[in-house]
Amino acid sequence: MSAESINPDPDCADDFDPNSMPVEAAFARIKAALTPLNHVESVAVRGALGRVLAADVRAPFDVPPHRNSGRDGYAVSDTDLAVGEGIATLIVVGTSWAGKPFTDTVKPGSTVRIMTGASMPDGTDSVVMQEHVKRDGDTIRFERTAPISGNVRYPGEDFCAGVIVLRSGKLLRPADLGVLASMGLAEVRVFRKLRVAFFSTGDELRTIGEPLAPGDIYDSNRYTLHGMLRRLGVEMVDLGVIPDSRDAVRKAFHDAADEADVVVSTGGVSVGDADYITELLAELGTVDFWKIAMKPGRPLTFGQIKKAHFFGLPGNPVSVMVTFYQFVQPALRRLRGETDISPTRVRVPLSTAIKKQPGRLEFQRGILEVDTTGTLRASSTGTQGSHVLNSMSQANCFIVLPLECAGVAAGELVEVEPFDGLV
Ligand code: AMP
Ligand code: MG
Repeated sequence: MSAESINPDPDCADDFDPNSMPVEAAFARIKAALTPLNHVESVAVRGALGRVLAADVRAPFDVPPHRNSGRDGYAVSDTDLAVGEGIATLIVVGTSWAGKPFTDTVKPGSTVRIMTGASMPDGTDSVVMQEHVKRDGDTIRFERTAPISGNVRYPGEDFCAGVIVLRSGKLLRPADLGVLASMGLAEVRVFRKLRVAFFSTGDELRTIGEPLAPGDIYDSNRYTLHGMLRRLGVEMVDLGVIPDSRDAVRKAFHDAADEADVVVSTGGVSVGDADYITELLAELGTVDFWKIAMKPGRPLTFGQIKKAHFFGLPGNPVSVMVTFYQFVQPALRRLRGETDISPTRVRVPLSTAIKKQPGRLEFQRGILEVDTTGTLRASSTGTQGSHVLNSMSQANCFIVLPLECAGVAAGELVEVEPFDGLV
């Protein structure tokens, strides 16, 4: 082979490639191509967990709706508290239970036994905690110098009638279900669930249960994808392993695009002889193929077949997870109407030095943990090959090293993106 016939283009082994696209630019283009779903449905409050609110929710009344006690104790009038220092003596004239209020007006010199959450009777302003009171028959006595006033919850302290409590675009969490219930709402408007179809490509891939012939490996990508998609609460269509043949991949594309809002494939997007994904996508729909300045996960195909958006992720198992978290997950969250889709990143000290060449934004697999002083720290999982899936299994965060970074010393601050909650 002559020197002229060698392609001078940099390949995946190089770190600096002038033709590659920064991660942020790639995601900006993906985001610009996505319009959130406009199909909305009503679901019962319990079924709204993990769904995205499709309309603002306003409080129909004050919550709490009535003035009530924050303590078990005695409801008293502030005039009785204000009489000066020394011992107060009051007569107990009844009880206000949570759900069974005391309905008469309490006169000065009198008091009502009251439980937490019970309505404050008319004529009372404060609750004296029972721990500060000596009771003798129908009489109570307490020191006026004790911290006695207050302990009352006012209407609207949680939220007032008419205010927007939950905004459209919010991903609903357990607390939100409680807030909806506290407003007495039985149903809520949410965006419909996304449907995501996915498949793996590769002649070497076997599904669990099949024997491995020489050169075969088990397909792991459909399992990590299943896990990540399931956590997002989308509907899934698993189309299995598709062999490296144009006809088989073409059919998979057709089937997937008919069934789903989003199609995700893995493998076949690099420049090997059996990599048809980009070519077929151009034949069936519209396509963008990018070499992204990231590590791992350089090649990425993004396009559209009929109404479905399509992500062609690389084949290497770690690259699949990294590109899913960086591109597919935020894209799905935007499509399903979520307004806040930016990942949480925090700066923490690095436990042991990390080597890196400038040129690509790197997502090293990291372990975020609390040290003996209670400080969060990050360390690398070690081996970082894009085929070493076990590194993802050990990790709970990405250590995000900027394009220009040329290594980080122990103790320096690094940015980490937890993908499994905070430690
Ligand atoms: P490709 O992008 O198809 O060239 O694949 C790149 C590397 O990832 C190759 O070593 C493949 O064997 C491997 N790979 C592709 N798909 C999968 C999969 N579904 N599960 C595990 N490894 C895969
Ligand atoms: Mg392949």
